[in-house]
Amino acid sequence: MTDRIAPRKVRCPACGGESVYSGANPYRPFCSKRCKNLDFGAWASEGYRVESQPTPDDDEESAVPPPAAPRR
Ligand SMILES: [Zn+2]
Repeated sequence: MTDRIAPRKVRCPACGGESVYSGANPYRPFCSKRCKNLDFGAWASEGYRVESQPTPDDDEESAVPPPAAPRR
């Protein structure tokens, strides 16, 4: 009988190495804390990049002359 639960191993999304996917590994599915931070950093910067995409509105704004009409 197999009383023991074999630890499931997955591939670490950050380094591609083997990572233990179990409660013993708080960083799952990553193999280590460093890999988790690495992946999170990449994910975060990617998200920011998507959010700061140039929009046509930006172009239009620069084409419009500033409302500089000094009154006398
Ligand atoms: Zn890793």
